[in-house]
Amino acid sequence: MVLTALEAWGPLLLVPRHYRESREATARILEVISAPSPSPSASSCRPDDIYLRLENLRFRYLPEGPWVLDGVEFDLPPGRKVALVGPSGAGKSTLLNLLLRLWDYQEGHIYLGGCELRSLPPEEVQRWFAVVPQQVYFFNATVRENLALARPGIELAEIERLARELGIHRHLLSLPQGFETPIGDRGFMLSGGERQRLAILRALLKNAPILLLDEPTAGLDPVSARDLFYRLLEKAEGRTLLLITHRPLALELMDEIVVLDRGRVVDRGKHCELLPRCSIYRHLWERHGLA
Ligand code: ADP
Ligand code: MG
Repeated sequence: MVLTALEAWGPLLLVPRHYRESREATARILEVISAPSPSPSASSCRPDDIYLRLENLRFRYLPEGPWVLDGVEFDLPPGRKVALVGPSGAGKSTLLNLLLRLWDYQEGHIYLGGCELRSLPPEEVQRWFAVVPQQVYFFNATVRENLALARPGIELAEIERLARELGIHRHLLSLPQGFETPIGDRGFMLSGGERQRLAILRALLKNAPILLLDEPTAGLDPVSARDLFYRLLEKAEGRTLLLITHRPLALELMDEIVVLDRGRVVDRGKHCELLPRCSIYRHLWERHGLA
């Protein structure tokens, strides 16, 4: 049996009962969105900080299946901006799901602040992350209600301020009822671009110290994508960022680029170092490069 990402997500704990949907899976992904910022936990290990370390990480979906991640190693120190790039099927989204403890890896380690991830309850792990997943989900509620779930008790004025800073306020106001627009089951009333804008706003509202963005500007035209991404980077100042992308968006601004191919890290470095020496990177850049 092949599990979908959503089927693997943990139980819903923090979202009001009346928001629950028939598909438990949707609720599960939303737990990550709404889990509050870190607080003391009852688990035996307490992360000292938000240093993430991956050591010889191996993962496969099926017991006898191929390794989807095969010996992945890299560090994500606090505040560092790292892009994870690679062809489709390289294992990028899988890696993100492992960081969120949606699945457990079979071999190797992920450490968060010195604690092995497997020793921490998923909801404890997920408190530290704000996520824009590759497939964005919303509740069958209004725009404002969906955004407020990221930080319970938040005032509309604060949401609006952040939306302005991200340059997406006018997009939200142009919806039929502005922030009070119902967005329908799983957000189907929104266009692809609107969904992405909302998902980015929601992730930033959560105020978690580590941002995981999986193709955050998919569905936006290149000019809008670039503008939104630069603003997002400004707002992410001081936070750790792991950006998964096949678009060479702002890659020159990243502290490091990790190139993943068929589950292995094949190279890592700065954009200007990788371009001449890494053919997979160069290929991605040439194929998707900005004119
Ligand atoms: P990327 O995000 O880099 O495109 P993925 O992490 O989505 O790659 O997928 C990596 C590999 O794992 C692919 O071969 C894909 O077919 C496989 N895969 C992804 N999700 C599942 C799943 N739920 N069950 C089985 N195989 C999967
Ligand atoms: Mg992916």
